[in-house]
Amino acid sequence: MAGKILIVDDVATNRIVLKVKLASAYYDTLQAATGTEALALAQSERPDLILLDLDLPDLCGIEVCNRLKADPRTSDIPVVMITGIQAAEQRLAALRAGAEEMFWKPYDENVLLARLRGLLRARETQDQLGLRDMTRRDLGFAEPVQPFSGPGLIGLVAGRIDTALQWKRQLQPHMTDRVLVLDRDAALSELTAADMPDVFLVAADLQSRGDGLRFMSELRSHSGTRHAAICLAMSHAMRDLAATALDLGAADLIDPAADPAEIALRLQKQMGHKRRADALRTTVADGLRLAMIDPLTSLHNRRYGLPHLGRIAERAAQSGRQFAVLLIDIDRFKMVNDTWGHAAGDAVLTEVARRLKTDLRAVDLVARIGGEEFLAVLPDCGIEAARGTAERLRRTISDQPVGLPGGLTIAVTISLGLAMGGGLADIAPDPEAILARADHALLAAKSDGRNQVTVHRSAA
Ligand code: GH3
Ligand code: MG
Ligand code: MG
Repeated sequence: MAGKILIVDDVATNRIVLKVKLASAYYDTLQAATGTEALALAQSERPDLILLDLDLPDLCGIEVCNRLKADPRTSDIPVVMITGIQAAEQRLAALRAGAEEMFWKPYDENVLLARLRGLLRARETQDQLGLRDMTRRDLGFAEPVQPFSGPGLIGLVAGRIDTALQWKRQLQPHMTDRVLVLDRDAALSELTAADMPDVFLVAADLQSRGDGLRFMSELRSHSGTRHAAICLAMSHAMRDLAATALDLGAADLIDPAADPAEIALRLQKQMGHKRRADALRTTVADGLRLAMIDPLTSLHNRRYGLPHLGRIAERAAQSGRQFAVLLIDIDRFKMVNDTWGHAAGDAVLTEVARRLKTDLRAVDLVARIGGEEFLAVLPDCGIEAARGTAERLRRTISDQPVGLPGGLTIAVTISLGLAMGGGLADIAPDPEAILARADHALLAAKSDGRNQVTVHRSAA
């Protein structure tokens, strides 16, 4: 998974050194010598990541970062800043401006590369989710991703409970998110969805040196905490484990001795990433559901129903068994709308759908494929059983009046066209042709007076 990285530095030798290092790790690079040039390249080339020097001749690096983050075309590109000035206030300012990290020279090359890998990996996940969200919108589900609401939850896990409690005391004044102190066993086993942290801060040392890394891997393999962002609290004395920690999936490495404001900011940054990914995941899942389900009746829709009919037909062709296709249409439905209003029509559709669904087997498919038209496909079903089922469906609608909103009840009937598919002597195995036969039978049921089942002559 290589990527395209924009190197911004006014000193040519610095750019070349970075370019060589990144090229040996298989990254493509772009170069800019000024802030203005960097902004233009970020827009035109859309790099996957930007390495940004703090001191530039025209604009300060912090200002460049601010502008990148303010522009929707570039706001999603992670920025890592590099500086020769070791000042905690500068780093805080960089994080506030939206940078992911600031490295002080001289930095550990392996840690820098591990950090870039982590950021590019996270970006890939976001991109995938974003792509699926686009597909979802292309399918016609255009609602924007819902912004999250309410505070998030941050879980603190340290070797000693009083260390975690001290973190909590220091962080609380800087955070609007809830902060929860956990012991390691509770974090792995006893959490319910309501107290599942979005972000963890885990001590790199729990009981022994570096065992926090293993604990992080355990958290990442548990279904409840899989999508949580895990930050490791790692003092400078442990920085030899930094590259490993990042490669194992640590979202950030936090010096527990740093300014609590900086720690809080880093945790909040991870909270933002986590919740944006959650929101995307939810809308993608909702989108998939909406792509298959009719929201009014909760039945499968046409987009799902027709391919599913195709799969049932294929399976029947393999097994040599028969299946039945029923096209079902509500009689004089327009009159329901015209007389009682659209809401009454909707109530009738919902109730007819419910009765059809209840009356059929779990293996049968029922889909709403048109306004007041339903498709039922009954796998492994011969003509007599199919005729019996169709007749039963007809009665389940006609025998019980349907209640409308407001308390009124009205009589409703359906017409059904039945065609058979599969079996050894199938005359036309393809689903389109079977549907056409069922439709033909349905038209006959309508013209013969409605509230009846007609079997296509090929099956009768
Ligand atoms: P027939 O017995 O020949 O089937 O007559 P019909 O009135 O049922 O058939 P027609 O196709 O003329 O009318 C179908 C009506 O279904 C027209 C349309 O306004 C209505 N309809 C389609 N979708 C919906 C819906 O989601 N809600 C409501 N309330 N009505 C719908
Ligand atoms: Mg109708
Ligand atoms: Mg119709």
